[in-house]
Order: sequence, then C-alpha cells, then structure tokens
Amino acid sequence: MNKQTVLDVDLQRKRVLVRVDFNVPLKDGAVADDTRIRAALPTIQHLLAQSAAVILCSHFGRPKHGPEPEFSLRPVLPALSELLPGRKINFAADCVGSAAANQAQSLAAGEVLLLENTRFHSGEEKNDPGFAAQLAAHAEIYVNDAFGSAHRAHASTVGVAKLLPAVAGLLMEAELRYLGQAVLTPQHPYVAILGGAKISDKIGVIQNLLQKADKMLIGGGMANTFLRAQGLALGASLVEESALDTARALLHTHGDRILLPLDAVLGDRFGADAKVQTIAVAEGVPDGWRMLDIGPQTVERFGAALHGCKLVVWNGPMGVFELAPFAAGTNAVARLVADCGATSIVGGGDSVAAIHGAGLAGRITHISTGGGASLEFLEGRILPGVEALNDR
Ligand code: ADP
Ligand code: MG
Repeated sequence: MNKQTVLDVDLQRKRVLVRVDFNVPLKDGAVADDTRIRAALPTIQHLLAQSAAVILCSHFGRPKHGPEPEFSLRPVLPALSELLPGRKINFAADCVGSAAANQAQSLAAGEVLLLENTRFHSGEEKNDPGFAAQLAAHAEIYVNDAFGSAHRAHASTVGVAKLLPAVAGLLMEAELRYLGQAVLTPQHPYVAILGGAKISDKIGVIQNLLQKADKMLIGGGMANTFLRAQGLALGASLVEESALDTARALLHTHGDRILLPLDAVLGDRFGADAKVQTIAVAEGVPDGWRMLDIGPQTVERFGAALHGCKLVVWNGPMGVFELAPFAAGTNAVARLVADCGATSIVGGGDSVAAIHGAGLAGRITHISTGGGASLEFLEGRILPGVEALNDR
C-alpha cells in the first residue's frame, strides 16, 4: 500500500486533524475498555513530539437524532488525559461551528483538542461537502488512524481527505502493511484459516483468499455447509441451505486446497450444559445433535498444514468458543497460529477475542483492529478511507 504516512510529512508546529476510532465501550459513564484509545497513542505521541497541535475527531455509537448525551465523546476525555500525562487536553462540545473553530485555531503547539462526536451531524455519514469543509478548516494536515472506519465513505474519513494533505497514522499504516501482505504480497507457503458462523458473511473473503493462499483451513459453522455440500448428514447443525451451491462450486474448483474438519465435537443442544460427544465427520451427525467445535484429529490436520508456512491469516473461530465445552478447537488453533513461526495476522472481533482469551495476543504478528474494514480489505476491496489518502 503505497500511501503517505505521518512519517512522510513535515508536522512541525502544524495543526493536524486526526480521525481516530474512539468508539469505546462505556460503563456507568466511564470508559470500560481503553484498547482503542491506546491504539491511537503512537500516532498522537508522534504528532506531539513534533510540536503539532492535535485535533482529534471520531464517531461514537449510532446517534439517530443529532446530539444525544448518551453518544457524547466527553467520557473519553478523562481516559485520554490519563494516557497522556502532563498534556493539556481540551474538549469541543461540537465538532464544527464557531466555538470549535476558535478552539482549533487557538490550540497551542503540543496541546490536544478532542472534538465531539462527528455523527451528531447528519453531514458525517452523508459525506456532505459543507460539513467536511468545516472539519477540514480546523487544520493544515489530515491524518487518518481509524482503520476500522475506513470502509465507510464519510465526511471524516473521505470528505476531509480530499481537502487537506491526507496521510495514514501509524495504526492505519500497520493495518495496511499487514493486511496488504495478506492480499497483495503474501510470502509462501501461505495458509488461510477461516471460521465463524456463516459462509454468507465471508464468501468474498473465501473467494479472494483462495486466489492467494496455498491452503485454506475451514472450521466453525461455515465448515458445516461445506460438509453438507459433500453429502454428509449434519443432524441439527447450523447449515446454510442458500450457500450449498456456492460451497459445492468452491469445492469443485479449489477442493484440493480446502481442508475441512475430519472430526467434530457435538452437543445435543446449544448450551454450556449440553451433552457432548466427539465423532468422525464421515460417520455423519446423529439426528438432534449439532457440530459445535472441531475435534482433535482436525486440530492435528490443521497443525500439519501450518507446518513450515511463512504466512498465516486467521479469521473466525473454529467453534462456539463462548461455551466452554466447545472452545478447545479454537484455543488449539490459536496456539497453532502463535507457535507456527510464520508471520501471523488475526482479524475479526470473535477470533481476536479468542486470541486474547487464550493469552496469546503477544505472540501474534498483527491483530487487526477493524472488523468490517478488515473483512472488506481481505475481500480485495479498496476501502474509500484508504483510497482517499495521498499516494507516496
Ligand atoms: P469473527 O468475529 O472472528 O469474524 P464471526 O463473527 O464470523 O467471527 O463468527 C463467530 C461466531 O461463530 C461465534 O459467535 C461462534 O459461536 C459462531 N460459531 C462458530 N462455530 C459455530 C458452529 N459450529 N455452530 C454455530 N455457531 C458457530
Ligand atoms: Mg464476529
């Protein structure tokens, strides 16, 4: 991805508008998980170290009717202050308008101004040129560090980028580098691991990665549909009837590179207290039982496929890992990915949660922060928020 980054431009004493993703969970009016704020710190600190005046903007939740107090970014202020000790952090109660404009213009070098939720204005999601111009007027340079919002063509992700010199922040740069490796310049052998509930959510990813990867390991609910397409009995398992033809076509064209489960952990119902048995997939699933995890032979098969690979991309858990009896397959694959010695890229909210749950986050080369954006990127689409950045 040949996009300019904050390392390519002179930021000394410049006013810089930074699109961050501060869409963080709150509890009792306070930030409950500051992961996304921390993820933006390298870029913010880089700008502050160059004596830039840093103006931060973000969406927060999905307000429907303009400014609604429950969607205010104000609770982020104390969390951000704590992470930037000794820095003056200001807050603008509206992201545009004369008060915000004055605050932005009078912001001193090395200070931070957090703007209120961009989605309080309908112009944000409509990518309204007038609204984008008001945002752009705050600054001399625009930095996009909100990879997770880059698949949306909004005023704060695309509109402003057309009005100012626009470069990637450090988080955005890392996402583009690693996900770019997955879809544009992979090292081989390259193994893709896909799971999660449904084929239909990820058909674009499956199709695109089958063009790039040497092998694709498929688990989770989506494997059921492939197994059904091969004619196996699946009992009460989740099967997407509407995706059977697609699954059949993919197996017909790429069957030699698609590895499916050999065995499965079944539950007699969907719950942590279900009765459990492990079967060979070829035997078929008895009536009333459902496949809720991959079994140990499958883990072994997947481990062998990963042996010696140079790049592994994983998206989607191997089973219903939220329920303890069906978490072993996902945890084992997380360990295989961490241990295989390859460059490892993990994306997807649930897969990332599984990596954290297994305590393996530090052993993964790149954990993608963008759910929908990562999927669209892996589908091979060009994200509008990325496209809008200046080329190198
Ligand atoms: P990610 O967020 O990593 O992209 P998905 O959202 O696509 O992953 O899929 C995760 C969900 O898939 C989890 O809630 C998990 O319980 C579910 N799932 C995985 N395997 C199965 C299965 N065999 N049957 C039903 N649901 C499954
Ligand atoms: Mg998910």
